[in-house]
Amino acid sequence: MAIATIDPATGETLETFEALDPAGIEIRLARAASAFEVHRRTGFAERAALLRAAADLLSAEREADAALLTLEMGKPLAQALAEVDKCARAMRWYAEHAEALLADEHPDPADVADSGGSAAHVRYRPLGPVLAVMPWNFPLWQVVRFAAPALMAGNTALLKHASNVPRTALLLEDLFTRAGYPTGCFQTLLVGSGAIEAVLRDPRVAAVTLTGSEGAGRSVAAIAGDEIKKSVLELGGSDPFLVLPSADVRRAAEVAVTARVQNNGQSCIAAKRFIVHADVYEEFAAAFVAGMSALRVGDPMAAGTDVGPLATESGRADLEELVDDALRHGAKAQCGGRRPEDRPAGWFYEPTVLTGITPEMRIHREECFGPVATLYRVDSLEQAVALANDSSFGLSSNAWTTDPQEQELLERELQAGAVYFNGMTASHPAFPFGGVKRSGYGRELSAQGIREFCNVTTVWYG
Ligand code: NDP
Repeated sequence: MAIATIDPATGETLETFEALDPAGIEIRLARAASAFEVHRRTGFAERAALLRAAADLLSAEREADAALLTLEMGKPLAQALAEVDKCARAMRWYAEHAEALLADEHPDPADVADSGGSAAHVRYRPLGPVLAVMPWNFPLWQVVRFAAPALMAGNTALLKHASNVPRTALLLEDLFTRAGYPTGCFQTLLVGSGAIEAVLRDPRVAAVTLTGSEGAGRSVAAIAGDEIKKSVLELGGSDPFLVLPSADVRRAAEVAVTARVQNNGQSCIAAKRFIVHADVYEEFAAAFVAGMSALRVGDPMAAGTDVGPLATESGRADLEELVDDALRHGAKAQCGGRRPEDRPAGWFYEPTVLTGITPEMRIHREECFGPVATLYRVDSLEQAVALANDSSFGLSSNAWTTDPQEQELLERELQAGAVYFNGMTASHPAFPFGGVKRSGYGRELSAQGIREFCNVTTVWYG
């Protein structure tokens, strides 16, 4: 894929970029390694001051940065502003909490004595330069979610961003540089995915984190495995959204619309499969379809737009294939199911609700990255759980019920890295974020996230 900024609302190529050549990559690898030798010896206060400075810069220029996100990948401007603000908050959160999250741990003195030692502690030390392979859907947040804890832990960062968000990739390097980070602490590698293998195999690179598709994850994890390097994978999701008889059905339907179409439907933690108990199905379906039909599709820069274009032409083609396959096999579009007629340019798609989904349809199994919901009717809680778990993914899950026994059962049974009751999944720096099954492994955010790229060191005294 060419490295280029292409406006998804018009299809116009605005700027293309030359990929770094091997010499350019070598310069950055050397810088990342030498910056690590300095950065790993700094204290938390110094690191926190740098990260707070980056957060302040983001807050000060939030409008311009948000407009860039919208320009490159098409999310509605209000959502881009929210993304910028969330990044600044996460930076401040890690600036404040990292020292406590990485504080030395002291084993029980009885265990220390039992080991034959006089004292012992566990220390979290940084690993080294970490490669981050990142996607375009939350082009700022996905990177900050990795970078804020990684930098606070004392690591340095090399970003290989998606090829369709090069200006955002360069903005990130510029931001950290202007915040005062020494050269080499955070660098952007403008390269295609073909250059990743050599970078990851380089002995100076200690670890890798990837957010993106299953295919990209498999390829990067195979290389990391071959090199015996730590990897964290945050891959796709096909999160279930269960609505049970005790739920506030109107509210569930309202939140369901946002949970499906946030970010133009291109979020790994978007609810994608809506699984509704027969007792409340008609009420939910009517409100949900009405809500999806009422969304305003249009220019993502314009106030009042709910759904902008898909980020890439190929992304819309993939979505259309999934919907067309379902319709061919007997699914029914309760709304949408096509491109909007009044938007011939750009990569728009109408918010869509499909019913009559059967297991042989691709959309039943594959991640659907766009404003398309599948709606299922079930007769019991057990059936709802079985359908929710009938997926190769396991990122998050949503369940609407006020019954404590049902909540307990769902918490135990749903195969996912999170379960959100009576609300939609949203990441927060204080909560671990990640999945099971083919949604990946490892965790981002919280204490778990900052410790992923640490050398957890046992220190023992005889
Ligand atoms: P990709 O997984 O292809 O892209 C994500 C990142 O991985 C980009 O930086 C990309 O670089 C890089 N990449 C792609 N292939 C490889 C590879 N073989 N080795 C190393 N790096 C690689 O996502 P797409 O943009 O193609 O989207 C395809 C589908 O992936 C979506 O429809 C969705 O289902 C899923 N996806 C999930 C995301 C999530 O948040 N979990 C985010 C994005 C996509 P480059 O851009 O240069 O190809």
